[in-house]
Amino acid sequence: MTNDAPVLLVTGGSRGIGASVCRKAAKSGWRVLINYLSNEAAATALKDEINQAGGVAEIVQGDTGNEFGIEAIFRAVDERFGRLDGLCNNAGVVDLGARVDAYGRERLERMFSINVIGKIRCASEAVKRMSTAHGGTGGAIVNLSSMAAVIGGSGQYVDYAASKGAIDTFTVGLAREVAGEGIRVNAVRPGIIETDIHASGGAPDRAWAMAAQIPMQRPGSSDEVADAVVFLLSSQASYVTGAILNISGGR
Ligand code: NAP
Repeated sequence: MTNDAPVLLVTGGSRGIGASVCRKAAKSGWRVLINYLSNEAAATALKDEINQAGGVAEIVQGDTGNEFGIEAIFRAVDERFGRLDGLCNNAGVVDLGARVDAYGRERLERMFSINVIGKIRCASEAVKRMSTAHGGTGGAIVNLSSMAAVIGGSGQYVDYAASKGAIDTFTVGLAREVAGEGIRVNAVRPGIIETDIHASGGAPDRAWAMAAQIPMQRPGSSDEVADAVVFLLSSQASYVTGAILNISGGR
C-alpha cells in the first residue's frame, strides 16, 4: 500500500463492529488508525493481522468519553499520518438493563459522555481536518446509531436508545452543515448484532435469545454492519449524505 492512501480513524476499533470495519476498510485500501479504550491486546492483534495481510494499521489508546482521550486520538492522527479522510464514529456503550425510574445521574453522564458528546467531539475534530473551509480535501463520516433510536429500548435501556436518537439528529444536521465543504456524513442503525456489547449489558446470550423477534430470525454479524459502513465511506456513495441505513434483519 502506498503512503498516500486515505486514512480512516475507527473509534472503538479493537473489537466487535469497529474491528470488522478496520479489517474491511484495510482490504479496501484505507490506512487505518484503530482506537481502543482498555483492550490493548485485541487492538494489537488486529493491527498485526492487518499489517501482515499487506495493509497499514496503527493503534491508539484513548477514551472518547473525555477531552484528554480525544486529544490523544487526534494527536495520533496528526503525528502518525498527517491527514484524515474518514471517521467511523463507532465507540459506544450500553449499561445494565434497567427501567428509567432506576437511573441515577452517574449512569446518564457516562452514557451520554461516550455515546453522544464523544461522537460529536470526534466529528468536530474530524471536520477541522477534512473540511475544504479549513484547508482540507474533504472526507466521509459514518456514525454508529442503533435501531434502539426508533424502538425506544423500553424496560432495558431507554437512555441508550435516547443517546442513539441524538446521533440520528446529529447525523442529519452535520451532513447539511458540511455538504458544501466536501464532507459526507451518514449513519447506520444496526439491530441486534452478535458482539461482546450484550455481555457488557449483563446479557451475554441476548443476541440469539432475541432471534425470534427479528423478522430474519437471527442476529446480524459485525461483518454485515461493516460492509455497509465501508460502502458509505467509499466513493461509491459519493451522492449519499444525511442518510441513515437500517441494518437490522427487518426489525
Ligand atoms: P463492543 O463489542 O462492546 O465493542 C466496543 C468497542 O468500543 C471496543 O473496541 C471498546 O474498546 C471500545 N470502547 C468502548 N468504550 C470506549 C470509549 N469510551 N472510548 C474508546 N473506545 C471505547 O461494541 P459493538 O457491539 O461492536 O458496538 C459498536 C457500536 O455499534 C456502538 O456504538 C454500539 O452502540 C453500536 N451498536 C451495536 C449493536 C449491537 O447489537 N452490537 C446494535 C446497535 C448499535 P476496548 O476493546 O478497549 O474495550
